[in-house]
Amino acid sequence: MARWICSVCDYVYDEELGDTAAGIPPGTPFGDLPEGWRCPGCRVGKEAFVRLEEEEEEEINEEEYL
Ligand SMILES: [Zn+2]
Repeated sequence: MARWICSVCDYVYDEELGDTAAGIPPGTPFGDLPEGWRCPGCRVGKEAFVRLEEEEEEEINEEEYL
């Protein structure tokens, strides 16, 4: 499950938790949120959100190990 952060107010939408206050059940992927869904923090639309990576991965070029 991914997490998404609002670029305006830093609210984090966690797919694992959903947004129960807005009737979004836990486990709802960000892509499945209704178009009318708004950030609970600042009311911007989904387009203002950016995906948070699960882990900070350093850029490792696997080919170097072959
Ligand atoms: Zn926001």
